[in-house]
Formats: sequence, C-alpha cells, structure tokens
Amino acid sequence: MTRIGILAIQGDIEAHAAASERVGGCTVRVLREKDLDGIDALILPGGESTTIAKGLARLGLYEPLRQFAATGRPLLGTCAGAILLSREVENHPVETLGLLDAVAARNAYGTQVDSFAALSDAGSEAPFRDLRCTFIRAPQLRDLGPDVQVLARVEGRPVLVRQRRVLAATFHPELGEGPSPVHRLLLALADEAAGPA
Ligand code: GLN
Repeated sequence: MTRIGILAIQGDIEAHAAASERVGGCTVRVLREKDLDGIDALILPGGESTTIAKGLARLGLYEPLRQFAATGRPLLGTCAGAILLSREVENHPVETLGLLDAVAARNAYGTQVDSFAALSDAGSEAPFRDLRCTFIRAPQLRDLGPDVQVLARVEGRPVLVRQRRVLAATFHPELGEGPSPVHRLLLALADEAAGPA
C-alpha cells in the first residue's frame, strides 16, 4: 500500500488523511526527520504558512524535506503548503523549500473574497477540468519557470501546477466527499517513483 506522509505541524491534516485514504493510500503523520524514511509521498497541508514555517524551523525539517524531494519521491503542497514549496513569497515572506519554480503571492484574492469556490476552466488538463475548487485566503502562483506545467486554471490563473514530481494547488482538493483527482495523481507519482513492483 502506498504510504502518504502528512506534515502534521498545523492545518487541515485530517482532511488530507481522509482524502488520501479515499484514493487507496495509507497515511503517516510526519513531525520528525525519521518519519520520512518509510513514506512514498508527502503532503504539505493548507493552514497558515507562517506557523508551519516556524514549525519546520523548530523541528529542523527544511533540509530533510529537501533531501526527501531529491530522492524523487513526490510532494503535494496545498494552499499554505504551495506557498512553502515555492522559490519566493510575496506579501509577508516566509522561508520556503524552494522546490517549485514559482513566486507565491499570499492572500492574493484580497480580504473581500477571502473564501470562494469556483469550477476550474474547461481548458484545464483532464481530469482537472470543471473541478470544484475551494479557495480559503488563497495565494496566487506567478512567474512560473519553464519546468512548471499548469494542470488547472480558474479564471485563467494557475491553481494546480506540476514540476516533475512536485504538485502545488492553491485551492483545497482535500475538501469534498468524492475521490480527489489531485490525490490520485500524487499516488500515481509515488508508484512511478517506487518503480515496478
Ligand atoms: N493565507 C494562508 C497563508 O498565507 C494560506 C491559507 C490556506 O492555506 N488555506 O499562509
């Protein structure tokens, strides 16, 4: 069974665990370097990126997470997690992992529309078209590097991107009842990274 680690410092940890289990993964909470040993993929949940960044520094996890990525195992960052993956942050910067060649602008939808749901654009990649996306004080991703592929957009803006085995969503794919295609892709990338059974 594919083991999905979930960074358990702060944020919507339980919703990601449920979403991972709905697509057939088993889950492990990650708080220490040694928790990374036995996992096939890692999720950085949404929450508050300043709080999560402080936790990463306190737990000494920045370098171990970069090393985890260097092994080729996949990562998924959602919302605050996407911010932490980026190379640079605008609007109250935090230290990031620098695993995604993009600039994350925090709270980029402003205070008027803190939270909203929207369908992804029809021009998005399958199976991420017409996907219901929930945004909660969401960031926007800008200045994407040449290796960053846009899998889904909402109103023309990238909301789900991929750089090799690093996935970042500015929305919350873990919310909702049904199986999440984003978590499905994470599992598929984990299986690909693990090689033939
Ligand atoms: N606004 C939060 C931040 O900048 C992210 C919100 C979220 O993860 N839902 O950290």
